[in-house]
Amino acid sequence: MIYLNGKFLPIEEAVIPVLDRGFIFGDGVYEVIPVYSRHPFRLQEHLQRLQKSLTGIRLENPNSEDKWRELIRRVIDLNEPDDQSLYLQVTRGVAKRDHAFPGNTVPTVLITSNPLIPPGEKQLRSGVGAITATDNRWLRCDVKSTALLPNVLLRQLAVDADCVETLLLRDGLLTEGSASNVFVVRAGIVFAPAKSNLMLAGITYDVVLELAQANGIACELRSVTQAELNEADEIWITSSSKEILPVTTLNGNPVGNGKPGPVFQRMHDLYQSYKAQVMRAPR
Ligand code: PMP
Repeated sequence: MIYLNGKFLPIEEAVIPVLDRGFIFGDGVYEVIPVYSRHPFRLQEHLQRLQKSLTGIRLENPNSEDKWRELIRRVIDLNEPDDQSLYLQVTRGVAKRDHAFPGNTVPTVLITSNPLIPPGEKQLRSGVGAITATDNRWLRCDVKSTALLPNVLLRQLAVDADCVETLLLRDGLLTEGSASNVFVVRAGIVFAPAKSNLMLAGITYDVVLELAQANGIACELRSVTQAELNEADEIWITSSSKEILPVTTLNGNPVGNGKPGPVFQRMHDLYQSYKAQVMRAPR
């Protein structure tokens, strides 16, 4: 069951007009929110980021925060799995095709739910492969835009190389993954690029930084070069669906000793405890 423009309905019955600007221009923004045991994870932060993305594309938020919470609650309740991956999308609505903003168009609002499948045992035990590529996206990667063609093409490079993610370098510096943020560990210290317009500020990225801070794990936000990626003891990718995944090969070479590292293990355990805590909170 999904929510589309004021109605709750089975996804098979949901349709949008061909002139929706999301379809024609990718003129929209989105969020992906994990739900654990029917508790949306970091909902406040996701709704704040949605607001930032809407502001970034100059589209008025169609719902108050309370309204979003209510719609999200209903979609969760209408779907069977306890663990869900919610997808929210807002587009600039339906209008005759013209690049400039249409006047008085009602935004299209969509919320869908899919079963949430966390990374499997094998991926956590062995880690995953990644490749590097030049980040050829626009300069507003902080906006969670539905216009994802560059991310799609970059991610496919990883799939073509039998890998899980493409790590992106702009002017020789790490920005993020095609659909994740990236952390690097060297000599026990965790490094990650600081937030900027060149990356999406991940909700998981923030959780990892908070957990590091609260548990005395040294963490530095600064530029990371290709050479530092090549010499890293550990590399992790993070996202709402991947949680924290260790990268154990980069461009076909082992990362560190080629196994998930001790700092990853620690952070993984901290993340799982944090999730468990969220699931115990009242709904
Ligand atoms: N960067 C990009 C480009 C992404 O697509 C994602 C995942 N949507 C992330 C980072 C991670 O963000 P989050 O932790 O909020 O899922």
